[in-house]
Amino acid sequence: MSFYRESTQPVVNPDTGLPYISEEIVRMNQTATESDHFPRHELECHCGCGEVEINYGSLMKLETTRIRYGKPFVPNCAYRCQAHNDTIKGASKTSSHTKGYAFDIPVENDADRWRLINAAIDAGFTRIGIYSNFIHLDDDPDKNDFRIWWGKY
Ligand SMILES: [Zn+2]
Repeated sequence: MSFYRESTQPVVNPDTGLPYISEEIVRMNQTATESDHFPRHELECHCGCGEVEINYGSLMKLETTRIRYGKPFVPNCAYRCQAHNDTIKGASKTSSHTKGYAFDIPVENDADRWRLINAAIDAGFTRIGIYSNFIHLDDDPDKNDFRIWWGKY
């Protein structure tokens, strides 16, 4: 079983069996299209353009979040092309979704919200937006890290 089907060797912490995010991998900044828990169609832009460009390090963190969360989820949004992003009311023009660093994960209740945020911080996401029915996660290196904000929509 490979952790990551289209790229380099799996990098797993032998003590925990969980993916280990090394600085080297994050610096490589590879683009990724698929991982064990998230097929391509769950990561690509929803406008129908078919584009998907997710950073490898960000996807590894999403995988780690998913494993620690322990329950399946489908991101509401992962990659978003600039044209599609520009049509979304309230979306930042420099959205981390357009750079392949961000994921919006649906949550149904307070317990899931806590568990997801806990898993995401553990996995290394450094920027978290809390919205009414989803959590935004990203590790965009161009923005301030170690931030949590309230989503306005
Ligand atoms: Zn698109």
